[in-house]
Amino acid sequence: MVLRMALHLPTIPNDCIGEIVSIAAFAAARGWVPATSGNFSRRIDARHIAITRSGIDKGSIRADDLIVVDLAAALPPGVSAEAPLHAERYRADASVGAVAHVHTIAATVLSRADASRGHVLLDGFEMHKVLDGITTHESTVRLPIFANDQDTQALAQRVEAALPPNPVPGYLLSGHGLYAWGATAADTRRHLEGLQFLLQCALEERRLGQ
Ligand SMILES: [Zn+2]
Repeated sequence: MVLRMALHLPTIPNDCIGEIVSIAAFAAARGWVPATSGNFSRRIDARHIAITRSGIDKGSIRADDLIVVDLAAALPPGVSAEAPLHAERYRADASVGAVAHVHTIAATVLSRADASRGHVLLDGFEMHKVLDGITTHESTVRLPIFANDQDTQALAQRVEAALPPNPVPGYLLSGHGLYAWGATAADTRRHLEGLQFLLQCALEERRLGQ
């Protein structure tokens, strides 16, 4: 009985496939997922997500590049090594509907430069307002930075233990990249693009010595 339940995985709805293909292509077109890096996922139901498999070009994802993960079971073979970071985000917050992970230059450079501080400070930008819960540019966003770790299951658990309630919808892994999430795929894309814009602004300001 237990085995049968574990094998009974839902098919991935077409709208879910379309949303993952769309956000991945959006990121790929901007050079945010170079050399098959990055990964994208979307919740199917309370217990299951669909996630990109390992080692694919994110600019040309097909339906059979997506793998269903049962959040109540062990991860299946073929998923990205970073799948635990997605799965733990969905387990920790039932309102999370999609997760995106990219390797942008701004995220990679700033996450190294500010690793000892534990966050990148993003202060006073109008773009803050695209982040859920922020209604004014007169705000300070501290985007958390966590030390990278090849044991992504242990890393995912450390991240979730450290995130505050109602966190900024993203975090950085040092020398690695940016994670962002939202209630829908559209929210996730908005948060991803907004956070990437803010990181790019912070990087450009430092180049100017500001
Ligand atoms: Zn990565």
